[in-house]
Amino acid sequence: MDKLSQLDRRYVWHPFTQMRDWVRAEPIVLVRGKGAMLVDAQGNKYLDGNSSIWTNLHGHNHPKLNQAIERQLKQVAHTSALGLANEPASLLAEKLVKAAGLPLRKVFYSDDGSTALEVALKMAYEFTRRSGRSNSPRFLSLDGAYHGDTIGATSLGHIDLFHKTFSGLLFKTDKVASPACYRCPFNRVKPERRDARLYAKCNHECVNKVEAKLSKHKYAAMVVEPRVQGAAGMIMHPEGWLKRVSEIVRASGALLISDEVMTGFGRTGEIFAGQKEGVRPDFLCLAKGLTGGYLPMAATLTTKLIYDAFLGEYEEFKTFFHGHSYTGNQLGSAAALASWNLLLQPNNKKRRKTMERVLDHELDSLWALAAVGDVRREGLVVGVELVADWKTRRAFALKDRAGIRVCEAMARRGVLTRPIGNVIPLLPPYCTTDAQLRRMVRVLRESIREVLGAGQA
Ligand SMILES: *Cc1c(COP(=O)(O)O)cnc(C)c1O
Repeated sequence: MDKLSQLDRRYVWHPFTQMRDWVRAEPIVLVRGKGAMLVDAQGNKYLDGNSSIWTNLHGHNHPKLNQAIERQLKQVAHTSALGLANEPASLLAEKLVKAAGLPLRKVFYSDDGSTALEVALKMAYEFTRRSGRSNSPRFLSLDGAYHGDTIGATSLGHIDLFHKTFSGLLFKTDKVASPACYRCPFNRVKPERRDARLYAKCNHECVNKVEAKLSKHKYAAMVVEPRVQGAAGMIMHPEGWLKRVSEIVRASGALLISDEVMTGFGRTGEIFAGQKEGVRPDFLCLAKGLTGGYLPMAATLTTKLIYDAFLGEYEEFKTFFHGHSYTGNQLGSAAALASWNLLLQPNNKKRRKTMERVLDHELDSLWALAAVGDVRREGLVVGVELVADWKTRRAFALKDRAGIRVCEAMARRGVLTRPIGNVIPLLPPYCTTDAQLRRMVRVLRESIREVLGAGQA
């Protein structure tokens, strides 16, 4: 084992990782990248099949992003946003507000997805109290919700595996059924209809559950990951659900917090996923793709109404008392501006559309495998759900480690992604070529066959 691997095993504790398993295997030590390709210390090449946990947009080592950061670096790397302004953060705020559209008017910067949610949560909480709507504001989010790992963001989450351990530390939030069609409690999807595109053909019975909840309590806000719930297993909501729910939220008087940390910046087709259904949230939380996957940075956009509730004389202390050391960081902002310019180029959208078509064509072959229960795609987000029995949709047992083993087999074949339980996500960077896309899916198919058998459905 080489020096770098040894150092890692001796000193580094990895996120969301069972370290006993980790230290048994030789880690992949990545040393450089170019486009969708990553290279390890031994010179092995890999395709970045999940955009480095859903962050990268335009590929690694992109000349335009490198240049933007280098140029900013020659000016200044970081100055505080506490009482001071800076150029790239101001330029970026204008772009974000214009793209998000009314009523979003103000940008509060922070460092990552969790803090973007934390900010929205605190603002909504305090706004609700000041407006007299409620003295003890409550929050509603979806079953399987994931909004980050800080205590506030964890409180909004509803993935038992991640969140239960810490329940003693968390504040209580309510959850409501998510429109997870593949395991629809109303049994709207027949086993033989293994095609996600048929899911929309229902009356959204699940919407009634949301309506019932919202009429029972005065919520400060409902928090949603619009159209795709990432960490829940790339759960894709049926067309129209978001629009209806946003109208119900609005009618109830609650605020809508849209968590586009994963779905933002073109990942689902439009720049922001909510735009696909014309939904206008009161808070828009952005992170992962904001800097093109280069640097940790986040933004919480909100309305003038919320902002105004924090205005007052100095000694009234209506100030929003929250902030981080690296808020509005110049290097991150410069990267974000460069990434934004690339994203808005007409050929970028065209390229993403082509990638969607290539993916559809390639993914089709997965339905033939008995171990594949569902193949979901929205924009450039793909979730392939592995099942023990496709007819009953019975899941693999945890100890089978089906998702982990398939991803290990993929890595051996040169494609990197990380499973969510038994769901294998593919989120290719937007620079991925057609040939690379085909290879990603082919490697997934071969790995499923190797690990779970070549049985046909
Ligand atoms: C990743 C993610 C977060 C948390 O972001 P971090 O940068 O990891 O803190 C929040 N919400 C969603 C939808 C995410 O996918």
